[in-house]
This record gives sequence, C-alpha cells and structure tokens, in this order.
Amino acid sequence: MQSGSWFRTEYGLQEVAGRLYLTPASSEVEWYQPLSLPPPAKQPKRQQEWQEWPHTALARVRSPGDASGFARRWGPLGLGWIEKSFGVPSKQPFFMPRRKGLCRYREPVDAFLRAAREFRRCVTLLRGERPEGKRLPKTPQDCKTAGADMLSSYLRDCRPFVVYCGEPSGWETTWQAPSLLHYCYLLVWLDLTRGRQWHICEHRPCGEFFLRSRPTQRFCSEQCERNFRRLKSYYDKRLKKVD
Ligand SMILES: [Zn+2]
Repeated sequence: MQSGSWFRTEYGLQEVAGRLYLTPASSEVEWYQPLSLPPPAKQPKRQQEWQEWPHTALARVRSPGDASGFARRWGPLGLGWIEKSFGVPSKQPFFMPRRKGLCRYREPVDAFLRAAREFRRCVTLLRGERPEGKRLPKTPQDCKTAGADMLSSYLRDCRPFVVYCGEPSGWETTWQAPSLLHYCYLLVWLDLTRGRQWHICEHRPCGEFFLRSRPTQRFCSEQCERNFRRLKSYYDKRLKKVD
C-alpha cells in the first residue's frame, strides 16, 4: 500500500523549561512510507520484532525511554499537526527557536505518552474490552462501538489521493494523513479490513499487544511461547514435589 511519506532523524531527550522534549540530534532527515512496510510476520521469533511497524511499536510505548526509541526509528508522532493537540496550545512551541524546517521539530514527551496511552485505549476498546478509566462503556458491544468512534475520528482526516507520474509508472494511488499518529490509526483500520485481530500476549511478563494471524494464537512471539512453556513446566514440577 502506497502512502504519503513521513520523516525520521536522530532523536534524543532534552529538558527545556521544566518540560521533557524529544529533540532532533541531527539535521539529516530520512523519508519513508508508513503504509508500505512488509506485513507483520505470522509469529515472529522475538518480541522486539513488533517494533517493525509504527502502530504495533506505538502500542508498546510506556516510558520516556520507549518514546525516544520510537522516535529514533519512526520519527515523532507529529502532534503539532493535530488540532486536538494533546495539551499543547499551538504548534509554535514544537519548533526549536530560530531554526525552521521539519528536522527542527521537537515533541513534548508527556503529549507523546498521552497519545500512546490513548492509542492503547482505542485498541482495547476495539477488542471489546474495558480499558482503565472513568465513564466506561458497559458491554463488549458498547466497547467496540466506542473504539470505532475513536478510530473514525482519526480516519476523517486521512484521504485517498491520486497522482499521475507519466509513463511507464502511470497512476499512483496513495493514502495521505496529516501525522504519524494518523498513520498508526490508519494501519489499525487496514488490519480490520484484512481481518487481523489485536491480542494480548499470554506470557504474563510480556503481556503486550500483538496482531493475531490465526484465532488460536496465544503468544506474540516464539520467544514468549518458549518462555511460557519453560515457566509452566518449572511450576508443574514444583507442585508435584509438594504433593
Ligand atoms: Zn509476548
């Protein structure tokens, strides 16, 4: 799937006036297409392989360190281009003083983490489950409806687009979105259209989201499946000894 491009560069954490920012550490910018990455592996070997797509990586962001790891790989979320600005009054504070251009774009970490939390909430609702918080929908049906509303609020700003590149390539049909956060929601929509379901890894110490490729899949990776069985046989043996 073709899409508009997003940018990434070297990002680090920097505190400015008491607020922590993801700050570009290089002026080299690399462009990539968030929707034209290879599809997720059926069951990858290692947990870390869920970082190979921006949306599955975003679902795993919980700390400032995770956020800077994400930004180094996929770029910032682009919250400055979203009207609902996650607690930031205008897009001006997102740019570093006196130096213009995308590569000088910085992003407040608290806003980034709030966006990641909200993204997890959307995925939880779409699974028909109640996330933590107040004013929650009661039934699985209501949860899914609430999740669909959240997803749709982002999809409204994404649009199909066409350009004519001349022969031999001809028409190029693409999707365009205003921010990487929008692309993450668009990827969730693509998963829905392809029947891929989000699930939580049953190996407790992992417990992260992954995309199920078959309805019976219980673990995000071969690594988690192996560790789960190892732990289980250890405790089974101990229980036998107690008997
Ligand atoms: Zn796992």
